[in-house]
Amino acid sequence: MTMKTGYVYHELFGWHDTGTNAGFFPSDPAKGLQPFLNYENAETKKRIHELIVVSGLIDHLHRIPARHATDDELLLVHPQSYLTNLKKISEQRLGGDAGDGETPLAKGGYEIGTMAVGAVTALAQSIMSGEVDNGYALVRPPGHHAIRSGGMGYCLFSNLGIALSVIKRDNPGIRIATVDWDVHHGNGTQDVFYNDPNVLTISLHQDRLYPRNSGMRSEIGEGAGINTNLNIPLPAGTGNGGYQYAFEHVVAPAIKKFNPDLIAVASGFDSCVYDPLGRMMLTANGYAKLTEILMSVSKNNKLMIAHEGGYNAVYSPFCGLFVLQQLSGVKKLDDPFDHTENYPGQALFEHQKFEVDEAAKLLSALPDNR
Ligand SMILES: [Zn+2]
Repeated sequence: MTMKTGYVYHELFGWHDTGTNAGFFPSDPAKGLQPFLNYENAETKKRIHELIVVSGLIDHLHRIPARHATDDELLLVHPQSYLTNLKKISEQRLGGDAGDGETPLAKGGYEIGTMAVGAVTALAQSIMSGEVDNGYALVRPPGHHAIRSGGMGYCLFSNLGIALSVIKRDNPGIRIATVDWDVHHGNGTQDVFYNDPNVLTISLHQDRLYPRNSGMRSEIGEGAGINTNLNIPLPAGTGNGGYQYAFEHVVAPAIKKFNPDLIAVASGFDSCVYDPLGRMMLTANGYAKLTEILMSVSKNNKLMIAHEGGYNAVYSPFCGLFVLQQLSGVKKLDDPFDHTENYPGQALFEHQKFEVDEAAKLLSALPDNR
């Protein structure tokens, strides 16, 4: 079925400058850390966009203009003190860091960050208004690690947290489910909605990768939001078989039971087989399959996807293209790297099944809104 699929991207996202680094770390000759690129750099996202254009898929997508988020929107999640401080840092000639020493920004980074928030918000609003059925916001910097009090792990603002807070403000009583398939725990989105009974937050991630000791199954929400946070930590090495099993046995049943009006995905391609930071094995077809499962359980097709991590500049573009091909129902290219589909590690293994089955036990306490 052909869908009207929205797409948001702006060249300014490529101008967010994370500086020279030795991968994760600031370069430091005394420690032997030679200056090189930050893992989080513009290339991966630029190349996802360029493949969408060069493949011709762009002609089948509905372009939604990016815009800056307003202060009113940012303040739905972050305190004024953080915005004031970050703006000051962003005005410095050499920029600075958003708080944890791992979230660099150069001069003007604040405004690029507010455009990432605004782009995700614009997509969410276009889906809610019915202008498009579903869609993808290809943004940078990412957002899913930023907590209410400030930036963290490459993320200046909670892009998705703010966008969904705007939707909640404008649509009282709406129920939303978020699904985070980035290889790292979606701790920030969890933090924003931890007490919220109307937002189900689900994160699948490599067990205890980042943040350290975060994303355990025991984190189930609190207060009014108890039992509406689901973490599915997966063993390193999980491939298409393990992810599909988790989606079929935990994610899809949870969404059916919670019965949301909108599904929002935090989309990292760092769970892919070639990622330098993650140790998972998803392929482009694997990501398309997960998208298909979410489409099959989404009410009125309302499915939005916001870009997060993904650090292999050659393969991530195919993951992005395949997700958008699935969303739109238009197929332009095959995956040139599809030999990875036949790796023996793509099967579901017993130790992976055990972890998913443990997470499935949390479903019984999830509120039933059917
Ligand atoms: Zn990530």
